Amino acid sequence: MNHKMKPESLMMSYGYKPELSEGAVKCPIFQTSTFVFKNAEAGKAFFEVAYGRRQKKEGEETGLIYSRINNPDLEILENRLTLWDEAEDCAVFESGMSAITTVLLEFLKPGDLLLISSPLYGGSDHFIKKILTQFGIIVAEFKVGQTKKEIIDIVKNTGLAHKLSLIYIETPANPTNDLIDIEVSKEIARLFSTTEKDIYLAVDNTYLGPIWQHPIKHGADLVLYSATKYIGGHSDVIAGACLGSKALISRVKTLRTFLGNMASPNTGWLLLRSLETLKVRMDAQAFNAQKVAGYLNQHPAVEKVYFLGNLTEKNGEQYAIWKKQCLSSGGMISFDIKGGEKEAFAFLNALKLIKLAVSLGSTESLAEHPATMTHVDVDTDLKEKLSITEKMIRLSIGVEHYEDIINDIKQALEKK
Ligand code: PLP
Repeated sequence: MNHKMKPESLMMSYGYKPELSEGAVKCPIFQTSTFVFKNAEAGKAFFEVAYGRRQKKEGEETGLIYSRINNPDLEILENRLTLWDEAEDCAVFESGMSAITTVLLEFLKPGDLLLISSPLYGGSDHFIKKILTQFGIIVAEFKVGQTKKEIIDIVKNTGLAHKLSLIYIETPANPTNDLIDIEVSKEIARLFSTTEKDIYLAVDNTYLGPIWQHPIKHGADLVLYSATKYIGGHSDVIAGACLGSKALISRVKTLRTFLGNMASPNTGWLLLRSLETLKVRMDAQAFNAQKVAGYLNQHPAVEKVYFLGNLTEKNGEQYAIWKKQCLSSGGMISFDIKGGEKEAFAFLNALKLIKLAVSLGSTESLAEHPATMTHVDVDTDLKEKLSITEKMIRLSIGVEHYEDIINDIKQALEKK
């Protein structure tokens, strides 16, 4: 019987051969900078592929060269990460930002037009608007809720539609949980593609992936992660990943080799360990988030709750997108507290179990104030338009008992 195992069943073994490591059950940390070649011909062949001089031949095993290019901890991790998203290949980085910036640098050149959704994570927003623009990239932006026609008009109105090279979206958006339609974004990419040039769609899937949203199934060419978040999941490692077809990831890996922003063997090993519990952690976080949102929804000191689980038919398009592309309501909740910065800060300062810290997706629950912390750099008018105001608090729900999380929120709301 041909039974295809689920990714969670493969996370403890896939791609690792114990006989190559003295029978060790777990992949050791290959803390080495360089690898011995069997002979000079093997070294030559490995370099040809690694430096992008030719594609790998059918069935060819590319050997290990040097840990800036490849390393067993990275390769096994990359192979395991492809399983959830059903991607052909993956490249792992030393941070989510290095994965994102490497993709932007690889697929854009001076004079090109980049179309982005907004809001984006503050770091991505900064790199695109304040750094990429210094290299002659032109940026067009659309907001949640804009129709396909409106987005097409935004591109056309730049007068640079022929220069469009990449569409970069983040969905759900941090911190508002707003959804962007991946399929519609891909249709727009196709519309402006020509026989000479494919326009690629890159999706930052940090908020729901890799368990609860699989952008490649909906047309994405590249999927990006801050692996610091759910994938790492223990607030003890910074890392990133990019997934896609073999051809695109080969381009990404070649640039990674020369930027030198690959993950270290130790980071690779930590993430291999994290992947073994990814599914159970995320399931527990989603369960807890439902309970916490239910509590916040009825609390008189709470003005509005931004949670995917609150979407219903009444939310129209947002609900339709959620039904189409999301597999869960996730573990992230933002809410507006009645009042402003004073009340928000009083709440944050009163928390006992939930840690006052940025980042998300970890085993412990975290709380932060997007307007003055993660999203402080976003243009003030835009922040207002996107509802990232002084009264907004972002919660990342952990794996604690939900009653303890709720009790902590209860006592902190009473102090505000
Ligand atoms: N993308 C999203 C949605 C994020 O929330 C973050 C970090 O907060 C990043 C990317 C950047 O990742 P990293 O901090 O691992 O560089």
